[in-house]
Amino acid sequence: MFRRFDPNGRDVSLPEDQWTDGMKSLVQFCKATHEEIFGEVLSVQYFKDPRGYLACYSRNSLTFNYRSIGKKKCSNWKTHLEYFMDLIIHEFAHRYGSSHFSEDYWRGTTKVGAKMALLLRAKPELLN
Ligand SMILES: [Zn+2]
Repeated sequence: MFRRFDPNGRDVSLPEDQWTDGMKSLVQFCKATHEEIFGEVLSVQYFKDPRGYLACYSRNSLTFNYRSIGKKKCSNWKTHLEYFMDLIIHEFAHRYGSSHFSEDYWRGTTKVGAKMALLLRAKPELLN
């Protein structure tokens, strides 16, 4: 889990008043799908972090690294749907395990992928 302060003590969080409408809509999508899949509220934030990660998840908290992903991509996430679905499923699966090499984690990825597919079939309006 990456903290909002980098190793030099600099705050890397991106305040909500700097989020574009597209970024807000990505947050809403993540919150809604997380609540449907896990039955728990998710908090989402953006970091402008020079460390190279794209996103990170720890229990009920998701962070997008807007600096790595790119502002344009975050703002137009629906035109990069496969990219974001891949990223969100990857992150949500960390609920099952932190190590990418653990069986809990890789089983979690397919489980979350299945749940996400069925959810979006049942409630396609989540992508509106
Ligand atoms: Zn990961």
